[in-house]
Amino acid sequence: MQFFKKVKRVLKEKRIEIYSKAVNLPFVYAPYELKLYEEYLSRLKHDTRINFISFNDCIDNTKINFVFRHDLDTLDCLKNSGKLIDLHIKHMIPLTIFVRMDDIDYSSKASYKYLSKYVESWPIGLHSSCYIDNNPIDAFKIEIEKFEAIYKFIPKFLTLHGLGSYKYDARMEFIKFISEFYQRYNLEFADFISKMRTYNYVVQDCHLMEGKRYLKHDILELPPKHAGSCYLFLAHPCYWR
Ligand SMILES: [Zn+2]
Repeated sequence: MQFFKKVKRVLKEKRIEIYSKAVNLPFVYAPYELKLYEEYLSRLKHDTRINFISFNDCIDNTKINFVFRHDLDTLDCLKNSGKLIDLHIKHMIPLTIFVRMDDIDYSSKASYKYLSKYVESWPIGLHSSCYIDNNPIDAFKIEIEKFEAIYKFIPKFLTLHGLGSYKYDARMEFIKFISEFYQRYNLEFADFISKMRTYNYVVQDCHLMEGKRYLKHDILELPPKHAGSCYLFLAHPCYWR
């Protein structure tokens, strides 16, 4: 039994590896047409084996699981956020939205204007960049306090704002810390904590080449449909129009 399980797992990994090589080339550079996003959603919606899960849901081992996450990195992300959220409402596909509180690329207070109408119905989490601060833990506490003051609840979900190789070691150190002590901050779920979730493949709209963002061909072709697999769709609304 154990042997067959192992063979199945290896085959699954192999198929995902073949898929990721096949779809690796750029398909389109940002800004992307919103239609492309909606077509992806409806393609998934038409497949009864696909299971849409919320950020902190368990995966269904009999289905192909999909998680949608929007990281609001810039003011343009905020301004565009409604267009993408409304598509999720239209197709009834769960989405979790992550907002920054570091006041670097936009004012944390101003974010509320764009997201307030979704606060009751869609999960909103913290997109933190605290690790770039000299005191990451203090910065993290401040971000949580600001979030609570603005949104009137403590964020349960956390993602980290990636900055490539910049402060990479500090990011890893913070991940190690928060993976152990997340409950101290009333956090429930973070997808960079590997014991909580691992993804078999990530479709993302932020691949970078010579300063330009692009989507790969994976926007056209769904990943392998293995029962129990879990895929993330990570979007930044600023790249869509
Ligand atoms: Zn980010």
